[in-house]
Amino acid sequence: MSVYVNRSLNLKQIQMIGFDMDYTLVRYYSRAFEELTFQHAKNYLVDELGYPSAVRDFVFDYDRATVGLVIDKERGNLLKLSRFGKIKQAAHGLKQLDFRTLKRVYQNVVVDLGDPNFQPLDTLFAISAGVLFSMLVELKEGGENLPDYGHLSNDALYAVDMVHRNNSVKSVVRANLDKFIVTDPKVAGLLERYKDYGKKLMIITNSDYSYTKVLLEHTIDPYLKKHRSWRDVFDIVITLADKPRFFEYPGRFLKVDPETGLMSNHEGKIVRGIYQGGWFQPLQRDLGLDGREILYIGDHIYGDVVSIKKRCDWRTALVLEDLESEIASIRKSRSIQAEIDTLMTEKEKIEHEINQIDLRRYEGREVDRSRLEQLFQQVDRLNQEISEKVGLYRSHFNAHWGEILRAGNEESRYAGQVEEFACIYMTRVSDLYEYSPKIYFRPKRRLMPHERLD
Ligand code: IMP
Ligand code: MG
Repeated sequence: MSVYVNRSLNLKQIQMIGFDMDYTLVRYYSRAFEELTFQHAKNYLVDELGYPSAVRDFVFDYDRATVGLVIDKERGNLLKLSRFGKIKQAAHGLKQLDFRTLKRVYQNVVVDLGDPNFQPLDTLFAISAGVLFSMLVELKEGGENLPDYGHLSNDALYAVDMVHRNNSVKSVVRANLDKFIVTDPKVAGLLERYKDYGKKLMIITNSDYSYTKVLLEHTIDPYLKKHRSWRDVFDIVITLADKPRFFEYPGRFLKVDPETGLMSNHEGKIVRGIYQGGWFQPLQRDLGLDGREILYIGDHIYGDVVSIKKRCDWRTALVLEDLESEIASIRKSRSIQAEIDTLMTEKEKIEHEINQIDLRRYEGREVDRSRLEQLFQQVDRLNQEISEKVGLYRSHFNAHWGEILRAGNEESRYAGQVEEFACIYMTRVSDLYEYSPKIYFRPKRRLMPHERLD
């Protein structure tokens, strides 16, 4: 697949390429992994947080949430936002809010993601939390005695957080790597090519060292041709980095012994090796590089991309796995979109005629009422037809939420972040394999509305 370009990026000038690990260097079978997380998290709610046993009966439905949605903790809804923070779609439990209710509840709301009442689903790891939250709300509305929406969302997020941290999910992954982890030999090939071209490589991951080691030994080592192990390929590896904090606030580096995994305090310069924690400033200083000479590639729109652009001037690349099916669906639904466009043009013409008649009436001139009536009927018919076609169009994407990068005719909040903060984006790291390490990525010229002269 292609690499998509928002801002010029000359790979020739990049001296250091940093990689996130989970969902970037290493891909998961996300449906299987999120189902596993979901099962553990719902049991955690019952066993540790005193939720009723009905929670154990929840059946995972991956498509109930997508990357980019936002949890509204106060009202108990899952939201899809436009890039301007307006709510374009909402679900309460498992039911979508109809247009009127949506308008009534959210007409004057513009979502500020700094508000703790809103929780964005920023990575595929958050799908299980979104689905769990929706099912808890559905159960509550069905009459089960459950806490308020704020507690439900905090508990769903907490349960997912805990099962990621307490090793219950990861021990299953380690024991069944082929079920949960994708292997892509091109990644090892890409890394070795970058090394041959003199690039330095690093990893900055929120995973711990022992998990990182297992995943990289499984996905990288077997496919290396010129190196023995991933440890020979990466100059610097930073585990438990605690992004986005790593890019935002100071933290101490610990040195990790690669053989034993034991840690010791680290004083002095950051040189080749494996570390835990820390923060980007001393790392960049000791690398002796300008921010513009470092490219960081990750999948977490906030932790790997937005936080970098806000705090340091590294270049950024986003991996968005769902882009692949989104592009395939755009291709498949192209003819329906063309039909919708034609119907919209027809509707605009009729609306124009209605407005002209209205102006004549305003000026005190006589108007043809039956013509007006006829035009209104035509608009109703067209609206009906358009809404059927939109339904058909939407059926090519997520059944509940449609496209990830669009909210109706506008771009989604997620798309807005991608455009603003990611210099380039792609469906997977190995998409870079098709491009030379010296490539100059240049964006296509974007047209503003007044520049479209058709
Ligand atoms: P990275 O993408 O390589 O930075 O690593 C992501 C790490 O964060 C993985 O080890 C995930 O298991 C972990 N992770 C993802 N979501 C959560 C969470 O909600 N709580 C704790 N850890 C998480
Ligand atoms: Mg990641």
